[in-house]
Amino acid sequence: IFSHVVLAPEDPILGVTVAYNKDPSPVKLNLGVGAYRTEEGKPLVLNVVRKAEQMLLNDRARVKEYLPIVGIADFNKLSAKLILGADSPAIQENRVTTVQCLSGTGSLRVGAEFMARHYHQKTIYIPQPTWGNHPKIFTLAGLSVKTYRYYDPTTRGLNFQGLLEDLGSAPSGSIVLLHACAHNPTGVDPTLQQWEQIRQLMRSKALLPFFDSAYQGFASGSLDQDAQSVRMFVADSGECFVAQSYAKNMGLYGERVGALSVVCKTADVASRIESQLKLVIRPMFSNPPIHGASIVATILKDSNMFREWTIELKAMADRIISMRKQLFDALRTRGTPGDWSHIIKQIGMFTFTGLNSKQVEFMTREYNIYMTSDGRISMAGLSSKTVSHLADAIHAAVTR
Ligand code: PMP
Repeated sequence: IFSHVVLAPEDPILGVTVAYNKDPSPVKLNLGVGAYRTEEGKPLVLNVVRKAEQMLLNDRARVKEYLPIVGIADFNKLSAKLILGADSPAIQENRVTTVQCLSGTGSLRVGAEFMARHYHQKTIYIPQPTWGNHPKIFTLAGLSVKTYRYYDPTTRGLNFQGLLEDLGSAPSGSIVLLHACAHNPTGVDPTLQQWEQIRQLMRSKALLPFFDSAYQGFASGSLDQDAQSVRMFVADSGECFVAQSYAKNMGLYGERVGALSVVCKTADVASRIESQLKLVIRPMFSNPPIHGASIVATILKDSNMFREWTIELKAMADRIISMRKQLFDALRTRGTPGDWSHIIKQIGMFTFTGLNSKQVEFMTREYNIYMTSDGRISMAGLSSKTVSHLADAIHAAVTR
């Protein structure tokens, strides 16, 4: 009865790793996956995470009972504080409701489901381009997905005029997805002045911001700096949705830890929204898992562990920034044609190289370098030892 089922294509991002794993070459390089690697090319578990896990393991009072539908209360409070700021008036006035969800993806999905049920506007504007999962998440939740201009291939920077025009002509009340920092895949973020203009435009048209914060602290190395865009939108007392992920900044990828916060106008609305979020979550995954969120809560509530975390987080961010510099220098040394300054200007895990799909194909075939066909490379997958191999490949691809 299932003989009609057709073979689905691999996920365009995760499929890169499938192809990489099949390649027997010793020099192969996987720059497709968005996960941090050490200088030795190994996955990293933060010391502070190991420490928290040990503490949890030693605590014999811990049991494996179900969590409440909204997850761990401490985790939720601390997560809201982390993204909105400890002194956020929205938190002090109890106007924020936070629910623990399955990492960034699950938080986006729960927020989208809520909007599909309870928000009068069913259209969400997402940047062009954006993380490939965004349109799928929102479409499946029942929202209608439209795009706004974001990236300008000629400058390899922000198409700010196009962005303002597209948001300016969006129907009043539309939802707008914003990357809080380190836009994926382009690595291009608005400046603070541009954020302020976006905020004014959005508020004047009652557009509803839905922030995706997948890289807080991972982009600049500073948790506060990477949250500035979100905090600007909360400081004006307007409504705002924020999906947070601890995949990158705490290296908890497979633990699936995240949170959805809804900033409301009043405490009363916040508690009613929370009651409806429970109705979204209950039939979706019933209640979230304990382990990852317990690690996060343990770290966030202890000032020493928190400090340790920020140091380890900054080391990851700095290594990525240093890889940008090394790749840029390597291309300059080779005299590779073109302006490669965008490599050092873009921020976060990815560089949007500007290489086209033919050049990417060539680099995979001839140099065993794997990346998504849009020319996005994960800087976290690169090391001082592999940067020259990548620079050789890019040089060959653009000069052939
Ligand atoms: N949003 C963006 C922009 C991302 O890049 C990612 C991870 N690639 C996510 C959300 C969600 O990741 P996760 O579900 O693993 O937290």
